[in-house]
Amino acid sequence: MKSAFSAVPPQSVPPQSVHSDAAAYRNASYEGLPLFGLGLTFDDVLLLPAQSSILPSGVDTTSRLSRNITVRVPLISSAMDTVTEARMAIAMARHGGVGVLHRNLAIDEQAQQVDLVKRSEAGMVSHPVTCSPDATLAQVNQLCSRYRISGVPVVEGSDSDGSVLVGIVTNRDMRFEADSGTLVRAVMTPMPLVTASVGVSSQEALGLLRQHKIEKLPLVDQANRLRGLITVKDFTKREQYPHATKDARGRLVVAAAVGVGPDAYKRARQVTDAGADVLVVDTAHGHTASVLEMVRRLKSDTEVDVIGGNVATREGAQALIDAGADGIKVGVGPGSICTTRVIAGVGVPQVTAIAQAALAARAAGVPVIGDGGLQFSGDIAKALVAGADTVMLGSLLAGCEESPGELLFINGKQFKAYRGMGSLGAMASRGGSGVAGTSYDNLTDGPQASFSKDRYFQHDVLSDDKLVPEGVEGQVPYRGPLAAVAHQLVGGLRASMGYVGAQTVAELKERGRFIRITPSGLSESHPHDIAMTVEAPNYSSGV
Ligand code: 5GP
Repeated sequence: MKSAFSAVPPQSVPPQSVHSDAAAYRNASYEGLPLFGLGLTFDDVLLLPAQSSILPSGVDTTSRLSRNITVRVPLISSAMDTVTEARMAIAMARHGGVGVLHRNLAIDEQAQQVDLVKRSEAGMVSHPVTCSPDATLAQVNQLCSRYRISGVPVVEGSDSDGSVLVGIVTNRDMRFEADSGTLVRAVMTPMPLVTASVGVSSQEALGLLRQHKIEKLPLVDQANRLRGLITVKDFTKREQYPHATKDARGRLVVAAAVGVGPDAYKRARQVTDAGADVLVVDTAHGHTASVLEMVRRLKSDTEVDVIGGNVATREGAQALIDAGADGIKVGVGPGSICTTRVIAGVGVPQVTAIAQAALAARAAGVPVIGDGGLQFSGDIAKALVAGADTVMLGSLLAGCEESPGELLFINGKQFKAYRGMGSLGAMASRGGSGVAGTSYDNLTDGPQASFSKDRYFQHDVLSDDKLVPEGVEGQVPYRGPLAAVAHQLVGGLRASMGYVGAQTVAELKERGRFIRITPSGLSESHPHDIAMTVEAPNYSSGV
């Protein structure tokens, strides 16, 4: 039987002149195929060097994550349970990017993660963590380690107008107290404390901290009700991370992934109430009625930017734009842990996918996020030239100290676990095959269902053995702190911009030109004819 998609055999082409024979042969071999065209990915292209007077150190890597959010470096960490929880999101924002908190955890837990990021650094903490004078030191210690803070204001009474500041308890007060059952009121520094009123300027606040050699300045109203807190840590962080991605109140920016399943809308509400700046409708197929509906609904009901995805075609991007998306996430199957392209036979090589989506997005002024498939820093500039505004990274960041999960020692080498959100481990019921050390391992409450299943539209699959995975589980080499990894990634992008002669990301996108290369061009690109003895911090020959 003749398949609808079978190519017409070459011998059926009637012989004509040599020239037209060749053309006919070419066309005939595609005849009958519903063929879109050629798909290229990062390894298929290189950027052409161009005339330049740009030094890598002098370029500006600022770009846009979404309609209203600007980043100083175009790097976003993946919403994966082995990549982005609060620690990674904090580190990403401090280094000028943004982290997207994964959603394979209970709604409350994800909202708490948002809260942790928003509280980690601020011009002024408007709702500081507090304790009562009747709390035990053990309870305060727990609070301090959860929020990574060194002390808390002590408050009493709580009416609709707030609680009254009665003292402050810090590490210093607790350090020499052996009995963890001691009450806060016995060790705290009681009022009167050095305080300021809301609206105090940064300079005045810093002056008070300096003058009194204190680390925390509670802000109070005329009735001594606690209205906020300024800490010396925020001033030092501001100097340490001058390019951090911050909101209008000086807090780190954080994004949160939501799905389209039954709990998705509740999740979206709760994480935005906790302070999430961006919602990412995070699915494997964004060109789907339920995703478009979710984007539409979130756009009409929330104030924050909404990113939709993933798509890999111009039509998919256009559909998300029409639904109101403030950013388009692109990538069907490029991920290092992803098997969608072989399991479902579906996908578009990533450079072409980005270029296709950008055709729609550019016209609408909506930024594109190139999600997945990046192996080296050079792929960042390729993604940007193809049409992306930022890139989302999974495997390149999973080995960082700040990613969830513990260090694994194998044959004397250090690794961290990394798994696809469509892997069996991530989609299986929680409590079964978690990655040691990640938060979902410790869940004791709530239903045990995975929150990752609906990313792959399998929330209706009731039994784990009926799941059809679209990802694998594995490990990546430990890479140390994000600071070092980000330095190399951004350094690579800066080098690309120097070679292309682009001062800004906009210029890079405008000036960048690709040359398509062959497999021998690719092997020439990598180190060859040498046994590598020392690994570079930005190049390894594999895992
Ligand atoms: P990487 O940077 O490792 O190449 O790709 C990370 C991206 O792969 C993620 O941001 C996400 O979009 C995608 N991804 C994560 N887990 C899976 C999975 O299990 N299957 C598929 N198809 N994609 C995944």
